[in-house]
Amino acid sequence: MSLLSVDGLVARHGLLEAVCGVQFRLEAGETLAIVGANGAGKTTLLRAIAGAHPIAAGTVSFRGEDVTALPAHRRTAAGLALVPEGRRLFGQMTVEENLMLGRFAGRTGSWTVERVMDAFPNLKERRRAKCSHLSGGEQQATAIGRALMTNPELLILDEVSLGLSPLIVDRVYEQIDGLVREGTTIILVEQNLSRALEVASNVICMLEGQIVLAGAAGTLSRDDVTNAYFGLGRVRAHGGTP
Ligand code: ATP
Repeated sequence: MSLLSVDGLVARHGLLEAVCGVQFRLEAGETLAIVGANGAGKTTLLRAIAGAHPIAAGTVSFRGEDVTALPAHRRTAAGLALVPEGRRLFGQMTVEENLMLGRFAGRTGSWTVERVMDAFPNLKERRRAKCSHLSGGEQQATAIGRALMTNPELLILDEVSLGLSPLIVDRVYEQIDGLVREGTTIILVEQNLSRALEVASNVICMLEGQIVLAGAAGTLSRDDVTNAYFGLGRVRAHGGTP
């Protein structure tokens, strides 16, 4: 049984079909990078999986259970956490208060405020600072920390490096590497292809709401991914995912 199964998923914005019948499987312990040009449908797909965007057709199953009709908070409680694009923190609340929201929303497990502080040492001195006063890197660390506090089995990261300096992006990716080594299953959307290919075990490339290339990262060349990204040349799907 796959940890996540997405079948025939359709999601719309009004009349626009942003995700057009997407299908893939994700096994426990895999790291899936979803790449694609602006407007390819990546964010809509992630939000639909997490329950933050309505699903017009198709199904999402998590740990063998059909969660298509479950609201976002029930999916979080089941072990599926989304770090949304733009972080969406509560600016008037402190770092610690934002982290505790994750604790209340999720499952019991080993993630505590202290463990998040150890994972993101840049937050230690900012623990009681309001989130609206944080730098971009500190906000991103808080957003990832809040998701980790739900003790997720599947962590979904939407463009976590957007707007951050290269140094801070390195730090965020060190933490993602650590999570991967611990066996956390991850889906990440990343604009930086090199980063995505470095960290991922599997890659999906989307174009105009559809998967145009999918496979194990080791079996795809950078040219394969770049061509699919821009809709150039013959498109192919490898074994593995989906
Ligand atoms: P980006 O990298 O720019 O975030 P993306 O691959 O994540 O792109 P989506 O944000 O999912 O793509 O957008 C998919 C399509 O849906 C695009 O055509 C986009 O213009 C459209 N879209 C996204 N959000 C909305 C919205 N709130 N209202 C209307 N259309 C939207």
